[in-house]
Amino acid sequence: MSKVLGMRCRECGEEYPMAPVHVCELCFGPLEVVLNWELLDGKLTREKIEKGPSSMWRYWDLLPVDGPPTVGKNVGWTPLVKAENLGRVFGLKNLYIKNDAVNHPTLSFKDRVVAVALTKAREFGYETVACASTGNLANSVAAHAAEGGFRAYIFIPSDLEQGKVLGTLIYGANVLSVSGCYDEVNRLCAEAGGKYGWGFVNINLRPFYGDGSKTFGYEIAEQLGWNAPDHVVSPCAGGSLISKIYKGLNELNRLGFLENSGKEGISTKMYAAQAKGCSPITTAIKNDYEIFRPQKPNTIAKSIAIGNPADGHVAIETVRKSGGWAEDVTDEEVLEGMKLLARTEGIFTETAGGVTIAATKKLVEQGRFGENDTVVLAITGNGLKTQEAVIGKLGSTVAIQPNLKSLEEALHTEKLLATV
Ligand SMILES: *Cc1c(COP(=O)(O)O)cnc(C)c1O
Ligand SMILES: [Zn+2]
Repeated sequence: MSKVLGMRCRECGEEYPMAPVHVCELCFGPLEVVLNWELLDGKLTREKIEKGPSSMWRYWDLLPVDGPPTVGKNVGWTPLVKAENLGRVFGLKNLYIKNDAVNHPTLSFKDRVVAVALTKAREFGYETVACASTGNLANSVAAHAAEGGFRAYIFIPSDLEQGKVLGTLIYGANVLSVSGCYDEVNRLCAEAGGKYGWGFVNINLRPFYGDGSKTFGYEIAEQLGWNAPDHVVSPCAGGSLISKIYKGLNELNRLGFLENSGKEGISTKMYAAQAKGCSPITTAIKNDYEIFRPQKPNTIAKSIAIGNPADGHVAIETVRKSGGWAEDVTDEEVLEGMKLLARTEGIFTETAGGVTIAATKKLVEQGRFGENDTVVLAITGNGLKTQEAVIGKLGSTVAIQPNLKSLEEALHTEKLLATV
């Protein structure tokens, strides 16, 4: 008996066999993987997971693949950092950073989704994989396609940061730079998917891709000593990550693994963070819209600039159900957020991480967190990939000659001594 029973429509409940399909034929709702809980309840244990590899694959039993991972074996199990300094700034005694800025191999949480999607792509027999991407998915699909020997076609909007473009080309993938925003790139890919029969990581393989993000939630709980946090702040693009963190925490609770939860369910509140220049999810939550209104993106936080999010409804529902909230921030606040995290915790995150930090600052000011609550911030990508956002905005280096006199002069004239 397989550990995965098949797929089910999230909206109408129609069931489907395992296949590379992502929308319901009846109602166009998103399909979700259905785990075989009979095989898991009472059989999977915390000890088994703890003895597993130091990667996201320690949760193999809860992931929608039949065999062992064939690509991305070392992805995940990133640090959960106790953020004492940033915690003091925010007045929070139990603040944590889940740091996927150092995820192996391409320095973003997207490695989690791609490891599952390409392992599944191989099981389905695909030799060619593809994706529409705001940057990090492009990097990760290209890297894992190289590792797994897949042919790769990567579609990106033409205005992406250099780091994201180079970080895709280096792996030898075919990169198609589309003149249009992400939503236009994605529409093109939906059309191409039907024509070429490729494994599109974020389209026909989306149900498997999405479940890779559950491991972000599993790891947070295990790293907190098998406790669900009180609050999680997550950046949102397509709305998958935030929904899957919550799903992951709920699954661990269903298995009876959480020390601080039980039959009454988990009490974790989920908070969505977006840039004001692309905020369909946070705007819907803050204004109590029933459905989000698509938006044309305009923000430096390009990795999360999706104006028509595929899992937007799920993300909104997740936040509402959990009792959380949402905030959006300006591009200046994104930059301040990046600097604040770097200068307090020594973590250089990309613009999406700046969104998370800046949104958290607003949530703190609104009094949403208790001083002793456990608050986890999802830092999902690395700052070296979005250098354009900070170039020319960090002051400059102090140029000196290689002698003490020159150093002395500089220390005085540049008023550096005060900080020595
Ligand atoms: C893709 C991405 C997100 C958001 O992911 P969704 O699951 O689409 O909401 C957040 N942060 C970074 C850095 C990303 O690349
Ligand atoms: Zn349906």
